[in-house]
Amino acid sequence: MSFLELTALTKNFDGLRAVDGFSLDIPEGSLNALVGPNGCGKSTLFNLITGVLKPDAGQVSFRDQDITGWPPHRIARLGIGRKFQVPAIFEELTVRENLTVAAKRSGNRVSIDTILEKINLADRRDTFGGELAHGQKQWLEIGLLLAQAPSLILLDEPTAGMTGAETKATADLIRTINQEQAITVLVIEHDMGFIEYLGCPLNVMSKGQILKSGSFDEIRNDAEVKALYFGNTVVPADA
Ligand code: ADP
Ligand code: MG
Repeated sequence: MSFLELTALTKNFDGLRAVDGFSLDIPEGSLNALVGPNGCGKSTLFNLITGVLKPDAGQVSFRDQDITGWPPHRIARLGIGRKFQVPAIFEELTVRENLTVAAKRSGNRVSIDTILEKINLADRRDTFGGELAHGQKQWLEIGLLLAQAPSLILLDEPTAGMTGAETKATADLIRTINQEQAITVLVIEHDMGFIEYLGCPLNVMSKGQILKSGSFDEIRNDAEVKALYFGNTVVPADA
């Protein structure tokens, strides 16, 4: 059985082809990264997978079921969780309350204490969401996904705006949830240091398509990718 299978996905915005015949197979239990220059279609791809946008052509299939064009709530119920670039947490609730609400809403029995440990916020359980540091908000949002007991997590630039130490801690967190909880993870990221530390297979996207897939070392030494990505001395912040 295939897990997440994207076949020839295409999405146009007023004459701009944001995603252009994109195909990718994500095996169950894997950890994969998707990188590429600003505007190459990464977030749009996540919107197509999660049902926020409908593709103009192509197919999204999950566990051999065609879910193309399904509404977001139905796709979420399949166990597909997605973290946006800007953290969406309840600022007026404590960390623990945030997690409890997310677990209740999804009807899943999960250990809030285990999640608190995992996301490095055990000593912040009674802090209001709005009072957390930026990096801690990002972790809490990953915690909200975990509270919904997903089988697939899509992370859109989870380390945006983080310090070096926070970025490393986030890579450790992602590896842990992938390995210990067998959650399949697809992460969009700009920060190559983070991808290297994560140590997972890498898919490079350019102009709405996959340009290359391989290990970090294979990709880093590829001439086309170098020209596209590593050639940039300044990596632009994502929109
Ligand atoms: P990335 O996440 O790789 O930076 P995006 O998927 O956000 O790229 O955007 C890909 C292209 O599609 C960009 O040119 C962007 O301006 C455009 N785009 C994204 N979403 C919309 C939208 N809702 N309407 C019109 N254009 C969009
Ligand atoms: Mg984006």
